[in-house]
Parts: sequence; structure tokens; C-alpha cells
Amino acid sequence: MEDRIPVGVLGATGMVGARLVGMLARHPWFRVAEAGASDRSAGSRLGDLLASEEIGTLPQDVADIEVRPLEGNWSSPVLLSALPAAVARTVEAEAAKAGHLVVSNASAYRADPLVPLVIPEVNADHLQLIEAQKDRWPGAIVTNPNCVVTGLATALAPLHEAFGLERVVVTSLQAISGAGRPGPSAYDLVDNVIPLIPGEEEKISAEPKKILGTVENGALVEADFALSATATRVPVLHGHTVSVSASFRKQPSPEEAAEAFDGFRSRIDGLGLPTAPARPIVVAGDPARPQPRLDRDAGAGMTVTVGRIRRDEVLGLSFLALAHNLLRGAAGAAILNAELCRVKGLVDAAADRAS
Ligand code: NAP
Repeated sequence: MEDRIPVGVLGATGMVGARLVGMLARHPWFRVAEAGASDRSAGSRLGDLLASEEIGTLPQDVADIEVRPLEGNWSSPVLLSALPAAVARTVEAEAAKAGHLVVSNASAYRADPLVPLVIPEVNADHLQLIEAQKDRWPGAIVTNPNCVVTGLATALAPLHEAFGLERVVVTSLQAISGAGRPGPSAYDLVDNVIPLIPGEEEKISAEPKKILGTVENGALVEADFALSATATRVPVLHGHTVSVSASFRKQPSPEEAAEAFDGFRSRIDGLGLPTAPARPIVVAGDPARPQPRLDRDAGAGMTVTVGRIRRDEVLGLSFLALAHNLLRGAAGAAILNAELCRVKGLVDAAADRAS
């Protein structure tokens, strides 16, 4: 008998949704039970829409799921959302009002002070913010960060803890798949760098302060540092790179920074979460790494690779960090959050509400 927990995937036919379906199809705790998307996809089989070597062959029962429109009730206690933010704002709130646990990739509720913005290895304790949502709806919304911020904030976490961030300057080199479907045209991308991703720099500036903040008396206190971001799109298929320079309250040498990365203590060690990588951060040994093609699949796409750690004449320290935007930055991030929710009893609570 199938005893895995049924999950609904909202936005199942998009760039992130397809990865969610692919990862959940082989997940030991969760199974895809329902899939929703726009009217363009409703009525089609997942197996017909998601044929791609990147997600592999779907098991027959998943391939046969008929995509449904988002309106109406969902039977699964947990909904994983990969919807555009404007759609997510309404749909995720309705789902939380109906008692579901919504684990979202979308930016709609990331800045909401009552909604946890979680990278489990970094700030699993922020999940306690969900308590404060009880006055708003019986269910809950948990979010993962923007696909650049996941790699960036994971890399900044050990440095902030050891040395105290003061100022950070970031330039992102973002992959094409980060733009979703259909994305920019090939003609615009090839032989080019696009120097504007609307809305992205605001998210890159704001989200690390929430993630690296603390929860005090049930309320979030943001981390106190300044962050300036420039976001660019480059002709890379998957894997967002960030070039980071930072100053600190206690300035580390490059060697001390490398030790902090190496010694990073994950907040979920020992919980046995299936999607957690053995090491959330690895320091590349080769001075010409990280590179998207060589490093994005580290730790099954869930490890952040850091390299080029060096002294910076202006701010003190510079380095590069790379993460797979669709896995560590999106589908894997959401599934890891759902796993954390399960061990914290939030999935059982949602299942009780649904029964
Ligand atoms: P995408 O490829 O454009 O997919 C969007 C999904 O939402 C599709 O399933 C689409 O269905 C559905 N959808 C769009 N408009 C809809 C509507 N009006 N009603 C119902 N369903 C609708 O986007 P994506 O790249 O997967 O991103 C999904 C979300 O994750 C976004 O909020 C994005 O910001 C976030 N995110 C993306 C990445 C990344 O690297 N791509 C990383 C982190 C977070 P149809 O196929 O039927 O149109």
C-alpha cells in the first residue's frame, strides 16, 4: 500500500514545477498526487507535458496525472507552489485559508514578517514564525528564497556568524532557466550579457537580511548589514554564480574565511532529511572554480560551491559562489523545506486538518 504523503504541485508544468514533479516522483516520504497549472495545460497528462531528459522518465502513475486548473479544492495536505508571484498571492492565501501547508518558491509572501523564509541548513529555527500565522489562517505558508539568494545567503551565513557582516556588494551571473518559460529569446542571449532582471536586485538585497536575522520573542529581527546588488543574465543553461565582496566587524583573512566555509555547521545535521546534501558548502580546490558546467550538480545540485576567496582592496574580502538555480535555488529548496516541516510536525498537523 502507498504510504507516502500526498502532495499537490501548483505550477507543475513550469521550469521549477517540472523539477518538483521529477524529484517527488522518486521521493521516499512524499508523492505527487495532484498537479495544477493554467488553463493552457489543464486537461493534459503530466507525462505528455514534462517529457525531458533532465527530469528522467516519470513513473506511470505520475505521468498519468491530469493537470487541473487552480480553482477548486485540493485533497493533499501539503501543496508545493511554483507559481508566478502574482498568481501565488491569491492562490497560496486561499490554500492556507483552507488549512493546507503551502511550501512556496514564489516571492509573493517572502517579505511577509509572519512567513518564514527558510534555508534549512541556515535558519531552520525561523519555522517558528508559523505560530504567528494562526491568527490569519488555519494553514500556513513557508517560503524558500529567490534562486540567487539561496546560494548567496548560504555562503554568507558562516561568515556572518564568525565575523559579522557590515557591507556586501554582489554581482550575479544568472542562468537562462532562472527566467522560467519561455525565457528570453535565443537571439537576445547568445553572445551577450543582459544587464537588467526586473525586480531581482530588490530581492537579492532584502532576502539575506531576513534569512540571516534572528527570531526574538516570536518576531523576526533582520540582520543589520548593507547589501548592494547588480543582477545580470548570462548564456548559461543552469547555475547562478555570484561575485561577492564584503566587509566585516572583525575582518577575516582569506584563509580564515575558507576555514569558516569549511567548518559550516548545518542546522539540520542529524535530522535525516532525504534531500539535504552531505555538505551544504564546499570550497573548490581549483583556483579556476566554481564553474556552472563543472559545479552546479555538486551534492545532487544541493551543494553551494565557493571559490576564488581572496583579499579585496576595497571591502576586505572577495569570493565567488555558485548554486543550481532549479535545484538548490528552487525545487530542491522547497522539498527540503517540506521535509523540515514534516520532522517538525507541521505536515501531520496539515493532514489532521484535511481529514
Ligand atoms: P514558469 O516556467 O513560467 O512556470 C510557471 C508555472 O505557473 C507553469 O506551470 C504555468 O502553467 C503556471 N501558471 C502561470 N500563469 C498561471 C495562471 N495565470 N494560472 C495558473 N497557473 C499559471 O516559471 P518558473 O521559472 O518555474 O518559476 C515558478 C516560480 O518559482 C516563480 O514564482 C519564480 O519566481 C520562482 N522561482 C523560479 C526559479 C527558477 O530558477 N526558475 C528559482 C526560484 C524561484 P502553464 O504551463 O500552464 O502556463
